[in-house]
Amino acid sequence: MSSILVLMAGALRLDDNPALLAACKTGRPVVPVFIHDNESAGAWAPGGARRWWLLQSLAKLGWELEQRGSRLVIRHGNTSDIIGALLGESAADAIYMNRSYSPHGRALQETLHETCTAAGVECRRFSGNLLLEPEQIVTKTGKPYEVFSPFWRQAKELIGEQYAYDAPSQIPAPSAWPATDPLESLGPEPKPSCWADPISEAWQPGEAAALERLEHFLDEIAAGYAGARDVPGVDGTSRLSPYLVDGEISVRRIWAQSMAAAEANPAASNGIHAFLRELGWRDFSTHLLFHFPEMPKRPLKVNFNRFPWQDGQGEHLAAWQKGQTGFPIVDAGMRQLWQTGWMHNRVRMIVASFLVKDLLWHWRDGASWFWDTLVDADLANNSASWQWVAGCGADAAPYFRIFNPILQGEKFDKRGEYVREFVPELAALPDAYIHKPFEAPREVLEGAGIALGQDYPHPIIDRKASRERALAALAHTKV
Ligand SMILES: Cc1cc2nc3c(=O)[nH]c(=O)nc-3n(C[C@H](O)[C@H](O)[C@H](O)COP(=O)(O)OP(=O)(O)OC[C@H]3O[C@@H](n4cnc5c(N)ncnc54)[C@H](O)[C@@H]3O)c2cc1C
Repeated sequence: MSSILVLMAGALRLDDNPALLAACKTGRPVVPVFIHDNESAGAWAPGGARRWWLLQSLAKLGWELEQRGSRLVIRHGNTSDIIGALLGESAADAIYMNRSYSPHGRALQETLHETCTAAGVECRRFSGNLLLEPEQIVTKTGKPYEVFSPFWRQAKELIGEQYAYDAPSQIPAPSAWPATDPLESLGPEPKPSCWADPISEAWQPGEAAALERLEHFLDEIAAGYAGARDVPGVDGTSRLSPYLVDGEISVRRIWAQSMAAAEANPAASNGIHAFLRELGWRDFSTHLLFHFPEMPKRPLKVNFNRFPWQDGQGEHLAAWQKGQTGFPIVDAGMRQLWQTGWMHNRVRMIVASFLVKDLLWHWRDGASWFWDTLVDADLANNSASWQWVAGCGADAAPYFRIFNPILQGEKFDKRGEYVREFVPELAALPDAYIHKPFEAPREVLEGAGIALGQDYPHPIIDRKASRERALAALAHTKV
């Protein structure tokens, strides 16, 4: 009996994996494959933190497959060449995969589909990673939505009930397995050696950990989500983002379990619906990337092509990346990112606004740093969010709304818990100055053991001047 190759990229899970399930249902031998093809991904090959995650996740996936009598075949190189070889090596005449929505993923799947069909190989694509497919939701005039609220109003009606299928208990194996490359062939561990330890303390990649985290979130956190989601000093959000990037958890599973939890516990319903709305932003961003594939490179609002971004003062970018700007909430966020590979959403907005508005650095430079350092680096969410903050994206925050890092800190990190955790040199400052050490009287700084300029930097910019400069720069987009 001929085998079926199942491409696991984008759905590194057994639970609710439509391509895998369809292959198993045929009763034919199934060969799960992961191809690491940096060449096709080009600039969007996984960054350092994401590569660390992927290595752990693939090891877990291989283990899960083995528990069901199967294996993960890993290959490194050009996808078309590898598929050509694997079809012969595993006597397969069919390829199943879940749909990709990124420009490079789509191009790759399109080419595969054409070459396979021409060669008489069955090639099937399934919908496994979104709540709604991009073709399922358009405006009354047949155009893609570019504003979130009406998108979400319609999406909620279309999504309706979501059903998630359980993992197959057994996966039919071929009589002989094609060779697999060792996991290490995907490349060395991420470059900064100091990175792996704190990241591995903070995270457990893989499907089992994702499902556990979902359960923990729904049991312990979701009820308070609507209020706590904006407070970076508490564990108030799902932290499912890194598991969603390559589909270690199914978004339909999240939806179905969340709705069940809301029904079982009406007191948690408000929080759970606020959480589901954020999953709506994920679908929205992916749809934007699908309809506007240039989004990672170019502003969606074309008048921003004229925006006079600064790129001369490299030391400002470096201070931002290292968390040494002299603005505590910005520095705490950038250090959380470096140490754990993740940053709280509220703080992502603050640090992004600081880079693009106070420092006038191009949003692409920020997006590219995030791409390398986030364990949840996701092309759609990252590009859409950076453009949203920069004011040049779909349904973006107006450019003139410039986050004040001091007021944001005082509002969302009132007692400074978050700053104290990630900027420990400021820990002894009283609450009144934790977000503005530069305004603290000398005796207060001395009492807290801080010499500004030595233990912690002076602010790298004068915010009043930088705000005026940003608003003047905005005028260029209006010519
Ligand atoms: C400048 C900037 C860059 C960002 N880059 C990324 C990125 O590369 N990858 C990424 O997944 N998210 C990104 N986000 C969105 C958001 O910050 C993260 O999804 C969220 O912080 C992840 O934490 P969580 O899983 O606890 O989120 P929760 O609050 O629990 O939300 C649940 C899920 O909804 C989705 N989600 C939440 N907020 C957003 C949003 N604003 N846009 C799209 N989807 C959202 C995520 O998949 C998230 O896991 C970015 C936001 C900003 C402001």
